[in-house]
Amino acid sequence: MQTMSRSSRATAPLSRPALLVLALLLSAAPASANEWLSCVKELRTIATSKGVSAQVFDTAFAGVEPDADILKAFDNQPEFTIPIWDYLSGLVDDERVADGRALMEKWAAVLAQAEEKFGVDRFVIAAVWGVESDYGRIMGKRELVRSLATLSCSSRRQAFFRGELLATLRILQSGDIPAEALVGSWAGAFGQTQFMPSTYQRLAIDFDGDGRRDIVASVPDALGSTANYLKRAGWITGQPWGYEVRLPANYGGPSGRRTKQSIAQWNELGIRQVDGSPLAGNGPAGLLLPSGAKGPAFIVLRNFDAIFAYNAAESYALAIAHLADRLRGAGTFQTPWPTDDPGIGRAQRREVQQRLLDRGFDVGTPDGIVGARTRTAIRAFQASAGLAQDGRAGLRVLQALRTSTPNPPMAPAQK
Ligand code: CA
Repeated sequence: MQTMSRSSRATAPLSRPALLVLALLLSAAPASANEWLSCVKELRTIATSKGVSAQVFDTAFAGVEPDADILKAFDNQPEFTIPIWDYLSGLVDDERVADGRALMEKWAAVLAQAEEKFGVDRFVIAAVWGVESDYGRIMGKRELVRSLATLSCSSRRQAFFRGELLATLRILQSGDIPAEALVGSWAGAFGQTQFMPSTYQRLAIDFDGDGRRDIVASVPDALGSTANYLKRAGWITGQPWGYEVRLPANYGGPSGRRTKQSIAQWNELGIRQVDGSPLAGNGPAGLLLPSGAKGPAFIVLRNFDAIFAYNAAESYALAIAHLADRLRGAGTFQTPWPTDDPGIGRAQRREVQQRLLDRGFDVGTPDGIVGARTRTAIRAFQASAGLAQDGRAGLRVLQALRTSTPNPPMAPAQK
């Protein structure tokens, strides 16, 4: 669940919390101890005037100090943009498809119930789960109260974060989720659905019937809440999100998710399904060209907009849509991305990291997550091998690592 929108051609969002923090870095300064205390006092006055009990507030804030990490540069590379093929390769890889299929089997009854009740495609529900939290495995580790209080006192978007903090305190007051489980991203997204607290208040549901809305510990609550979210975002039962298409040669016509036309109009422009047949479905539809007319092209229908609503980025929505199709049994896109250095999945990213480590480059623990450390190590390797230093974990650097011999002086010291 994101609070900022960003999408541009051929680039994909950084992790959403990273983006948000990036924006804050430009404006925020850490509060002094006195400023912090007086801010917490002010927050207490506001919260208690809005129905939060003093006891809930005081318990939640016991020992809480501002989180300096949130306000200092981490992984701060504003110039760094991720090509969409890298973004999608990390989010929709064979591992996530296999994991998703296994979990869909395990939770088949719940997914069927969610599909029945909300009319939302179970594959899309599962894909949101897979992309948002890797099916509940990665939910963030920051204490929500601390993060949101820091942002409420130091950021330029205080009004927004104070609202989120208030929503968090109400979760604590309701007893729906225990305090120790209220951890999440830097910006306050939490649980298996990565809802912001205010979104939780509006849309989370108790789907396992235990009387609590717990999107952290309860898979049924998380899946049901996701279905509820998509339904409220305008999901149309029985329609696909869209599908990949083929453009006529040298296509220069209209495009864009928001440039809506009827299917008949797109057909008239010579756009076809990938098997060459005329376009199908009910418009209005947009034509998504994430990397321009030379890359994969997609007709996107109303349900794509519903997915987009979850996190206001087209690349993100495409990742969910594509993962849903892969879970359903579809293959990868027919048209290749316009690059000679395709993206790689998490297994291959771990291999890149391990091979860098074997050569003495510091990447930390190979975890398949490409952050600043890994990119720095890749650049160092590329420099040592006489390659262009782009710091990207793609197929090209993987192949270079596979064929080069580890450099003896860089090898780990012998005992
Ligand atoms: Ca429940």
